[in-house]
Amino acid sequence: MSVFRDPVQAAIRALEAELGGGPRADLPPGVDRLASLLLQREERLRAIEKAQPERELLSAMPDAAGLIAADGRVRASNAALDGMAPGGRSVGLTLLEITRQAELADAAQRALEGSPKRLEIHLGARTWIANVTPLLRGEVLVLLRDVTESRMAESTRRDFVANASHELRTPVSAIAGAAETLLSGAMDDPAQARSFVEMIARNAERLARLTNDLLDLSRIESRQWPVKLEPVSVGGTAQRAVEVCSEPARRKRIELRVEVPEGTAVLADARALEQVLVNLLDNAVKYTPDGGRATVTASPVTGDRIEVVVADTGPGIERHHLPRLFERFYRVDPGRARGAGGTGLGLAIVKHLVQMQAGDIGVDTGSGGTSFRVRLPRAEAPAAPAAP
Ligand code: ADP
Repeated sequence: MSVFRDPVQAAIRALEAELGGGPRADLPPGVDRLASLLLQREERLRAIEKAQPERELLSAMPDAAGLIAADGRVRASNAALDGMAPGGRSVGLTLLEITRQAELADAAQRALEGSPKRLEIHLGARTWIANVTPLLRGEVLVLLRDVTESRMAESTRRDFVANASHELRTPVSAIAGAAETLLSGAMDDPAQARSFVEMIARNAERLARLTNDLLDLSRIESRQWPVKLEPVSVGGTAQRAVEVCSEPARRKRIELRVEVPEGTAVLADARALEQVLVNLLDNAVKYTPDGGRATVTASPVTGDRIEVVVADTGPGIERHHLPRLFERFYRVDPGRARGAGGTGLGLAIVKHLVQMQAGDIGVDTGSGGTSFRVRLPRAEAPAAPAAP
């Protein structure tokens, strides 16, 4: 009988004795199991060490990436692929277990047989491009790239080009039609000729407005509009915007008011803020019936910000339009808006310009009219310009 109470100690002594030429050691069953577990752990560590350079390589990849071994299970992966796996660990799982995507699992199987494949897959609301490539040593490299955002941007751009072309086609067709009618005889009748020339002038003006707005929008979106944030007087800027809109306002007998306390200033880009107020006042004039009023006010709000409000006494906007109001080419009443000379881009430009100045924009509307609220950081009033 062993003198050692501890079975592990006893087993060690017995094994040492056996290896030193003694009789075969009689090991208790628990120790046998322990030895086999230690061996397994050793093998696993060796496998991980062996995969270390590959894991390093996979980690440097921008995509979710993994190596699929001949048994169809992931042998090495990067964090992005692990993030897709249930439990956050992809090693040891099949692609089907990770993505629940039969088409991808099928492509990986075929790649193990030697055929590479590129495919688009949908996981939940996201779109991925998967590349499965057979490697020389009988394994497969799988790369998954999330293309959801770029696909969305592509589709927005396609819609924009289609909308812009459609908007441009209308005045171009009107001009071409009027010119053709003039050439085929209307030119000889002074009354008719005048009405067709007026039609050409009106539509040329519309084309000019559209192309100007499109250019502004593209300059803002491609960040070619240089933003210079500095203290800007709200009252002074609102006054200049009112002057720009005074002619159309006069024609509709719409009163334009500026009620901004002296010395109110915001940190903004002077040109961008003026453009924002011009676009909002221009809409107020366009959509408010004759004899109405539009007012610019400003007051401090929480967070050390100033809220500049352009409010009109027009018909208001039905609430269900609000979520899409700032989209390019979105119009509440397309016929009326075009008739009023709208391009459908005014509010999209406003939203971009406000965001560019670290501000935010909201809208309140009801039967009493519409108020656009622009919030910008408060600033100390700028020094008055020196007298010339
Ligand atoms: P548009 O050039 O057609 O005016 P905007 O982007 O400036 O395009 O405005 C989008 C739509 O929002 C307009 O077509 C109009 O239906 C609605 N809208 C904008 N401002 C007002 C307002 N002050 N009162 C009523 N409706 C407005």
